Amino acid sequence: EREGPVEGRETRLRVVLRVRPLTCTETRRGDQRVVHSLGDGAVHVSAAKHDATFGFSAVFDAGASQEAVFEGSGMRRLVELAIDGFSCTVFAFGQTGSGKTYTLMGPLAQSDTQPASPALLGLMQRSFTCLLEQSRSRGSDLALSASYLEIYNEQIRDLLSPGPPCALPLRWSKTRGFYVENQLSVEFDSLEAIVSLLLQGSQRRRTSAHALNRHSSRSHALLTIHIHSRAAGACPSKQGTLCFVDLAGSERVKETGSSGELSLEANSINRSLLALGHCISLLAKPRGKRTHIPYRDSKLTRLLARSLGGSGITLMVACISPSSRCLSETLSTLHYASRAR
Ligand code: ADP
Ligand code: MG
Repeated sequence: EREGPVEGRETRLRVVLRVRPLTCTETRRGDQRVVHSLGDGAVHVSAAKHDATFGFSAVFDAGASQEAVFEGSGMRRLVELAIDGFSCTVFAFGQTGSGKTYTLMGPLAQSDTQPASPALLGLMQRSFTCLLEQSRSRGSDLALSASYLEIYNEQIRDLLSPGPPCALPLRWSKTRGFYVENQLSVEFDSLEAIVSLLLQGSQRRRTSAHALNRHSSRSHALLTIHIHSRAAGACPSKQGTLCFVDLAGSERVKETGSSGELSLEANSINRSLLALGHCISLLAKPRGKRTHIPYRDSKLTRLLARSLGGSGITLMVACISPSSRCLSETLSTLHYASRAR
């Protein structure tokens, strides 16, 4: 097992919090703001029966720009580590409507008729730019390719595959670990090319009618950039990955009025988020104190086993709404995220 770049916990696992602004609807109906940033990575929740403070590596409040989130979350460093051959993963976690997709992709994911203003581009586009700049400055020794998968009801679909959706098998081999059979991997060498792959794939993401948000994404989406750097002089060739995971909404079944097919969705979502939380909280422990890590509990954790364990580096972006109406989900996100720390 290859050691991480630095043994510090802060490097292996960083958990940051983003609080989105109140939406127009929330403001219009008079929702109270119950989340307040205290500075220094601390956030305070105060409502009728609740009064609690939580700590993170960084907190981005409603006024934080997309650029501030990119620069302050350590994302640039993660891109560099991926180029250096490490497996890096970024998760966006939180209830539906908390800003996960906005943080990763910006508002562009909602409508592709109007290109988003550069200031609104998300962590993904900013990382691609950073990666391509590095790649250009190193000449032609970096080969980049992307794959884009979705996990819906514990089934894996290829979001880059043009044909009708079909479930791909997840296999395991001694040399490769867990891998998805027949998954497409598309080479790219420009920002336009990778952004276009991102858009095409995102449009194929499974959405379903849902009491909380009609277009809520009920699937986990994983976009992985494979970075192969060819041997140069004394440097051996390296294979790093940078994976962006837009997790399904973390809200519990009872609050969404789900039934039938929707509760099947909710059950598999809950199961994989629980498995992920469990794996991350174990990984947050010092190496010597780790017990068996239950990757096999869900497809999501199996797919991420390599990046979560070993020399993997993880950034978790917990997303919350500041509204009093979201209080119970907000508290559950804050507990989940601080457990990971
Ligand atoms: P999720 O992916 O968690 O379901 P979205 O990213 O779709 O949530 O965000 C829900 C809504 O809130 C969208 O209309 C989005 O544009 C808006 N939004 C989220 N975060 C921000 C933010 N930081 N600033 C402005 N608008 C935001
Ligand atoms: Mg979303």
